[in-house]
Amino acid sequence: MRIWIFRTTDVDSKVLNHLQENLAMVFCGTVESGKTFELKEKELHAARGQYKSTPILWRLRILKPTQDFLLAVTEADLYADGLNFVFGEAYLAARCAIISLARLKAGYPEKPFTAELFLRRALTEAVHEVGHLLGIGHCPQPTCVMHFSNSLYDTDRKGPTFCSRCQEFLP
Ligand SMILES: [Zn+2]
Ligand SMILES: [Zn+2]
Repeated sequence: MRIWIFRTTDVDSKVLNHLQENLAMVFCGTVESGKTFELKEKELHAARGQYKSTPILWRLRILKPTQDFLLAVTEADLYADGLNFVFGEAYLAARCAIISLARLKAGYPEKPFTAELFLRRALTEAVHEVGHLLGIGHCPQPTCVMHFSNSLYDTDRKGPTFCSRCQEFLP
């Protein structure tokens, strides 16, 4: 499989390289990064200071070959209908997903924030969304990357690896 990573220009190259290397390993595929995209004024909810993820995916889906996968990465905070925020969203039929790094930079008493923790969280969210693009749904196992994450605590508890059941779906 081939994954295209598209980023907004505020995304640090360290994160990008980390995602590129690790997604290639996890999904045994080719990962192309280096393309950028811009968020549109009309996708911003000014009062919330957040961008709506679904229209972004809809727009980006045509920017890659149909059979390939696209992962958009942005520092902007994202939301979707009915949700205060989303770490990411996947649009299975279009093979397009997006993750936001905006909420991955906080620490909490048991887990002080570090650069390494940030990279792990970014990879966890990226693997989760690409997992959805392969048709893998949410997993009841809290330590599996496909477990639904509602907080950084959930994200840190699971990490970027698949449980043995979900692993069966990988290429
Ligand atoms: Zn999910
Ligand atoms: Zn699982």
